[in-house]
Amino acid sequence: MRGSYYAICLFGFILSKRPLNPTELNHEQIHVAQQKELLFLPFFIWYVAEWLVLYIKYRDWMTAYYNIRFEKEAYNHQDDLQYLKNRKHYCYQH
Ligand SMILES: [Zn+2]
Repeated sequence: MRGSYYAICLFGFILSKRPLNPTELNHEQIHVAQQKELLFLPFFIWYVAEWLVLYIKYRDWMTAYYNIRFEKEAYNHQDDLQYLKNRKHYCYQH
């Protein structure tokens, strides 16, 4: 999931309005990996809960969004196209 909403990944599928470049695709595929290891529904519950908690902390939706652990992992590694080959499970940043 990204701020501009041109792409979203749900239940292991990536939906996008236009073809994604390799970096964007990598970002979404990192979310797919996260969702699979959290069995999908818990991922969304955790994602939304963390966004709300961070919003209370930062009082800003976008700042909160960029600080969600799943987004941090995806943004920090989206440029590394080999990342998913070497990624460890449950390696969300704290
Ligand atoms: Zn994202």
